[in-house]
Amino acid sequence: MASTHFEAVPELASDADATGRDLIVMKFGGTSVGSTQKIKDVARRLVAAREAGRRVVGVLSAMGDTTDELIRLAHEVSPHPHPREYDMLVSVGERISNSLCAMAIRDQGHEAVSLTGSQAGIVTDTSHSKAKIVEVRARRLHQELDRDRIVLVAGFQGVSTDLEVTTLGRGGSDATAVALAAALGGACEIYTDVEGVFTADPRIVPDALKLATISYEEMLEMAATGARVMMARSIEIARSYGVPLHVRAAHGDTEGTWIREEANLVLEKAIISGVTHDTAEAKATVLSVPDQPGVAARVFRALADAGVNIDMIVQNVSAQGATDISFTLPKTDLPAAEPILEMLAKEIGAAGVAYDDDVAKVSLIGAGMKSHPGVAADMFEALADAGINIEIISTSSIRVSCVVRASEVERAVQAIHERFRGYAEERVNA
Ligand code: ASP
Ligand code: MG
Repeated sequence: MASTHFEAVPELASDADATGRDLIVMKFGGTSVGSTQKIKDVARRLVAAREAGRRVVGVLSAMGDTTDELIRLAHEVSPHPHPREYDMLVSVGERISNSLCAMAIRDQGHEAVSLTGSQAGIVTDTSHSKAKIVEVRARRLHQELDRDRIVLVAGFQGVSTDLEVTTLGRGGSDATAVALAAALGGACEIYTDVEGVFTADPRIVPDALKLATISYEEMLEMAATGARVMMARSIEIARSYGVPLHVRAAHGDTEGTWIREEANLVLEKAIISGVTHDTAEAKATVLSVPDQPGVAARVFRALADAGVNIDMIVQNVSAQGATDISFTLPKTDLPAAEPILEMLAKEIGAAGVAYDDDVAKVSLIGAGMKSHPGVAADMFEALADAGINIEIISTSSIRVSCVVRASEVERAVQAIHERFRGYAEERVNA
């Protein structure tokens, strides 16, 4: 479940006050640094920002699919790679891209230095491969910036409170960039291979619209429900520290999407921000669970202790003293969850556990639905008209999500987007 990390640290607040927003953190994703030529292009962008008078921090992801390749190597050597060694290995990709970029910047006549996450003062908790940033000790960064250098920080990694190298989870360079912007009091630009945040995945909805602005809350829901532009946790950090975010294309100069406080959006026109989908989750059902206090607590405590991330949960009203509990979890967490659930089912006297990984989730997000009745009804009607069955529904104040058959999810996205197209257009043209 979503929770807030990145404890408020006094050091952060004072740094932010000291520097103002002339500082910019520019983050480039893996495809944008996929070749040495592209790294030289990124170097030019960083230099241009410096020449425009900004203080510049670059955060580069690993080149192309380097991280996937490193993970593949680990699994070739060991079925369950040791967590510490896994992080030592997969953190390497970002050292390559950032050091190469520093070299390229020097050749373009500017001072630059690349730092590991640890050297940059990114302190995390101790949970390997999904560590959370707890503090940024920014002294070294300030020193380097004061020497007029462009500072490159290896994304996706830090050093734990036990002094071990940690990584922040897939897509973690976003968290690095936003945390640095928070700590240094800068703005954050996320350069990627898409033009910004769209009202749906343009590969599925070719005439999806690019949003000019979106609130932190909406973006958080979009990212958490499958919009792949940014890592969800990085948005939480941005929201907590009020970091202005600009998601834009690494090629060209077009404006992308600004992510900011909801108060700055024209809300009456902003009912819907987008339709997302996620095919990475599976559904598990604990069958015929005895209707007694403490049963759900035991099931979900055991899963939480094993680090399994639960998303939607439904429990029915019980009939004859027993009920089913269904929930969704990442497919990648199934191997960890299955033995726990089998054991628990026996202990609590459930009839068994059923798994289904042929599901997908489609979500509709929009801050305006808080004050606008009928949004859920419209969404369900759109699915009904398309003949798509809904298996689980869950909502937040600005989101409605439905689990459907995986094979139907693209049609579901199209049907819902079509239904809300008018709102999307109004918002984009507002
Ligand atoms: N290279 C890491 C990954 O592929 C981190 C990142 O790209 O943000 O997940
Ligand atoms: Mg990547």
